[in-house]
Amino acid sequence: MTIYAKMLSMIDALKNWFLQEKRDFPWRNNPTPYEVWISEVMLQQTQASVVVGYFHRWMKKFPTLSALARASQDEVMKAWEGLGYYSRARNLHAAAQLMQGKVPTERTQLEQLPGFGPYTVGAVLSFAHHQKAAAVDANVKRVISRLYASEEDITGKTESLLPEKQPWVVMEALIELGALVCQKKPRCHECPLQKECRAFKQGITDLFPSKKKMAPITKLERRVAVIGSRGAYLVRQEEVGKVMGGLFLFPYVEKKDDWDFPLEMKFITHLPPIEHGFTRYRAILFPEVWQAKNQQEVEGHRWVSKLEIKDLPFASGHRQILQKVLHASTAH
Ligand code: SF4
Repeated sequence: MTIYAKMLSMIDALKNWFLQEKRDFPWRNNPTPYEVWISEVMLQQTQASVVVGYFHRWMKKFPTLSALARASQDEVMKAWEGLGYYSRARNLHAAAQLMQGKVPTERTQLEQLPGFGPYTVGAVLSFAHHQKAAAVDANVKRVISRLYASEEDITGKTESLLPEKQPWVVMEALIELGALVCQKKPRCHECPLQKECRAFKQGITDLFPSKKKMAPITKLERRVAVIGSRGAYLVRQEEVGKVMGGLFLFPYVEKKDDWDFPLEMKFITHLPPIEHGFTRYRAILFPEVWQAKNQQEVEGHRWVSKLEIKDLPFASGHRQILQKVLHASTAH
């Protein structure tokens, strides 16, 4: 068989495998370009099975690109709450406002939008507009690097596998193969590419992709003050540009520091510590409940009623504290 014929039969095998084995997701059911874009950004955050719930809720709240563009930043952040990397939500919102009702079909236009890195551009061109474009995520990187036993020019090699006819099916098949079969520990006996896979033939699948050094984790310990006064709580919104930019937080200080509030307040109780991770941080939060005599103004902060606070997008650890406090207040 010539190299070309081998390649064609490999692509056919991959396509057939995909058509039989692919998982059924809402964004695979004749999606609009807007649905493709949203699902692809969500899929960069967490596993597909978790994304399903977020995707349905998002589409109910912002059914169209124009609905997303018109929404407030707080509404968008609230819908993203729990997915992490909130800059992605801010970028979705900003890009929707720039798109003027239509997801662009040109690579150069997409590349100029906030949040559109090489993967998202490729995924939108391929899955939304059915163009011949490579979308290289971690799954594809694993498959291609093993298939060729090389980590050079993964994008170029991926592109060369895409046929003229229905290239998006092969692109999605490569992603699915990486997610279901060519996993960290590959299941080569189930793989449609096994006959052509160099790493498999050479018994060196564990060398690809090469391990990256992980960035060190920074540990944080913080006191968090839940300060209540006449049915409202004191909160602040983190500045855009910071790690939790746009999200709401209770006031906090490092564990060794003291509070410095111009408020007359009385300590009520400690709540159990909460551990949570975000980006490269691991934080332990030590919540303290305080009662302020009145809702005096505190620079950079605002008082928010119990009713209103539930709709605000909170940073993950602080949201857990809020839930505990609200639960305790309704239980009494
Ligand atoms: S044969 Fe194994 S290593 Fe090669 S692509 Fe398939 S699952 Fe991955």
